Amino acid sequence: MDNAVPGFGLANLPYGVFSVHGEPPRCGVRIGDSVLDLVAALDSVPAFREPALNGFMAQGRARWTEVRARITGLLTEDRYRGVVERALHPLADVRLHLPFQVGDYVDFYASEQHATNAGRIFRPGSAPLTPNWKHLPIGYHGRSGTVVLSGTPVRRPSGQRRAPESAGPGSGPVFGPSVRLDFEAEVGFVVGAGSPHGTPVSVTELADHVFGVFLVNDWSARDLQTWETVPLGPFLGKSFATSISPWIVPLDALADAWVDPPPRSAELLPYLADAGSHGLDLTLEVRLNGQHLSSPPFATMYWTAAQMLAHMTVNGASVRTGDFFASGTVSGPARAQWGSLLELSWGGAEPIALPDGTVRTFLQDGDEVTISATAPGTDGDRLSFGEVTGRITPLS
Ligand code: MN
Repeated sequence: MDNAVPGFGLANLPYGVFSVHGEPPRCGVRIGDSVLDLVAALDSVPAFREPALNGFMAQGRARWTEVRARITGLLTEDRYRGVVERALHPLADVRLHLPFQVGDYVDFYASEQHATNAGRIFRPGSAPLTPNWKHLPIGYHGRSGTVVLSGTPVRRPSGQRRAPESAGPGSGPVFGPSVRLDFEAEVGFVVGAGSPHGTPVSVTELADHVFGVFLVNDWSARDLQTWETVPLGPFLGKSFATSISPWIVPLDALADAWVDPPPRSAELLPYLADAGSHGLDLTLEVRLNGQHLSSPPFATMYWTAAQMLAHMTVNGASVRTGDFFASGTVSGPARAQWGSLLELSWGGAEPIALPDGTVRTFLQDGDEVTISATAPGTDGDRLSFGEVTGRITPLS
């Protein structure tokens, strides 16, 4: 068994869904560059026969921890060597599937640097942060039906955009393929154990509900977004596709990755008050056509996942197994840490020169965006989140 692939050793063990040789999809765990078939290796967890992690995720924190310990035992104890060897498949031989059946999807706006950059670009001359920003994690409900697995091609969306200034005052919108297509490097949190309708989830209860963490690319058509967003928020500029990574890193693997969030510059209402080190020290990397673009640091996010979950349920809204929420674009203070082309090209005004000599403001057909991340693991090494990737295909 090869578990020497960096970031995918025994301290990680992320869950996913795979199929092999045309057999039905089922649940597995990644170790090194292999997948351990959890149906073949662990017949005491029938939920692993499902083509999604939902059944297992619904069983709750105590069960997640117990099963993780048993998988660790399988992979480390000599007496299981034969069972494990028969249940391992090289990654190259399997097909990966969406890891969970997606319920409701919420996207936040939790990076102060991203919100500040976007405010300066979209609303020049006014305060970059809206008056509510430091008091609640701003979010919107996304479209769960168009959440796709990493590797799925993303077709350039069409829609309305504002007429160019050259068209003169009073001109109506233009319809056509987006000319300002962008990515957003984000981190996602999937709910395993749901909450009752009518009962808010406290800021201390993240680990009772969230099963694990993964990477998200919230593809965004900035021209559609700019024209449609005021006053009700993102709609068609975001809903055409959202890509997620195939491996869900369990919270138990992130025990050494928690950090304090940034200092608070406004007092928080009690239901959002920080209740521990709920920031997470993930370092993301964004590549465009294989070339390094930026390294967004998740530890700089103003709002924590615990605060996002508390806020999205404080009105009595429930969360259900398979719901997920994403952080919003991750952008750190330095330009080399920004998580979207909107910011990196400053709204298209400052084209970016890539190492291979090509120049971009927004994405062209054929462009491939790949987001990866690492975090401190419990073994002293960094664990990997793998990657979420997608290539833009032309409209026709
Ligand atoms: Mn987003």
